[in-house]
Amino acid sequence: MEFTICPGCGVRLLKSDSLPEKKFNSSKECWELFCQLSALTPNYDEEFIHQMAIDTYEAQHGGGDTKNIAVVFGLAGLYLSLENNYSGRQVQKAHMVLGEKNKEWPKLEPPTFNWEYTVKDVLDSSLEKGLKEEIRKWAEVTWKGWGEQQKTIEDICNYYLS
Ligand SMILES: [Zn+2]
Repeated sequence: MEFTICPGCGVRLLKSDSLPEKKFNSSKECWELFCQLSALTPNYDEEFIHQMAIDTYEAQHGGGDTKNIAVVFGLAGLYLSLENNYSGRQVQKAHMVLGEKNKEWPKLEPPTFNWEYTVKDVLDSSLEKGLKEEIRKWAEVTWKGWGEQQKTIEDICNYYLS
């Protein structure tokens, strides 16, 4: 059996030859798992947890050919939702404001390419624990993992959103 390692999050998955092209700095197999998760989340709840899943995936797949804006917006979403209690809808609006006010975003180097909690863990355990809780845990681990670079994101949000 052959496996692939995702260059973004480090998840190890069985290789598949029949997958569509990926987005972000990810393996096709990892992107496929995110597509499966995305199929479950859009209408899941009032708060729009789907947004947190997108932001977390982006924040775990920086580097490579991932655009700067994807990582910055992903992290901004995590900062606003986890530290400021924004709902997914409010995060979407904040992304629009950021996009209107600025076009060039800094390149942030991911702290790791081997995350301890990945989209696979969310899918593996969501049935017993609840999807929302798992996505939140995934988001928290990811936001915490960015460590010192959190300050850059806080500054960006405070500058453009206040
Ligand atoms: Zn991945």
